[in-house]
Amino acid sequence: EEDIALVSKAYEFSKKAHEGQKRFSGEEYFVHLTETAKILAEYGMGATTIAAGLLHDTLEDTSVKDEELEKEFNSEIVFLVEGVTKLGKLRYRGSDRHNESLRKLFVAMSEDIRVLMIKLADRLHNMRTLSHIPLEKRKRIATETLEIYAPIAYRLGIRKLSRELEDLSFPFVHQKEYAGLKVLLKQKYEENVESLEKFLKSLKKALAKEGLIDVRTEYRVKGLWSLFKKMQTKKKDIEQVFDVLAARIVVKTNEDCYRVLGIVHGSWRPLPGKIKDYIAFPKPNGYQGLHTTVFTGHGNLVEVQI
Ligand code: MN
Repeated sequence: EEDIALVSKAYEFSKKAHEGQKRFSGEEYFVHLTETAKILAEYGMGATTIAAGLLHDTLEDTSVKDEELEKEFNSEIVFLVEGVTKLGKLRYRGSDRHNESLRKLFVAMSEDIRVLMIKLADRLHNMRTLSHIPLEKRKRIATETLEIYAPIAYRLGIRKLSRELEDLSFPFVHQKEYAGLKVLLKQKYEENVESLEKFLKSLKKALAKEGLIDVRTEYRVKGLWSLFKKMQTKKKDIEQVFDVLAARIVVKTNEDCYRVLGIVHGSWRPLPGKIKDYIAFPKPNGYQGLHTTVFTGHGNLVEVQI
């Protein structure tokens, strides 16, 4: 009840503060605040962060002063809103040389991970509505998102968020490549999704036979931007990228991961040189898992992520 009261209060306060303001889309500006708050809620943030998300533009874009915010809300919320406002003053200059220091500055300046989360949610909503922004600004904002915001989300381990930021930016930065790759990916998906589902079914059976019941299986489609990057850096075409569609198996313990790998290799022949142990050697963003690519018959290959 306390949480609901806090979020409701922030909602009403922000609505009043932004009254009369419009977005480029013609919508009420306040929509941006409720959408930002929704994203924060979807990512499991708490009431304080959600409330601060609703208030994140009050200091920058309305006549509300710090003291007013302090009077109405606790110091934690004021700290978060001030933090987001400070970050808004960092300027992206669009040169590779400075990108890494800007990313670092961003993280250091936010002091509190919740400030960063609000800023990322704010940017995600702005990217979702980028086509309403004047044409000449779009490319700069999209490039900034690709160079600064998406990598920060990636390093925090929030891959879903970084993938969405990347794929929303991609068409504004490389329009032609985006369109071509989108068609290719769709084709590849349609060709492979059926056999992948079959594979997952027989895999589940094989695991159950060995007593592994508490298993979640799913698959993920590679993001367009990360596919583009991989094809560019490794000079590959889409047929040589094996993790466009990857099978995922989620189990409870590290031990179970290795057991699953054993069972997978016992039933399907692995492709040499493609076995990666990110449990023993986590990725820099903390990601852990076992990856292998196996032959599923009929010449098909599938990447399995455990
Ligand atoms: Mn905003």
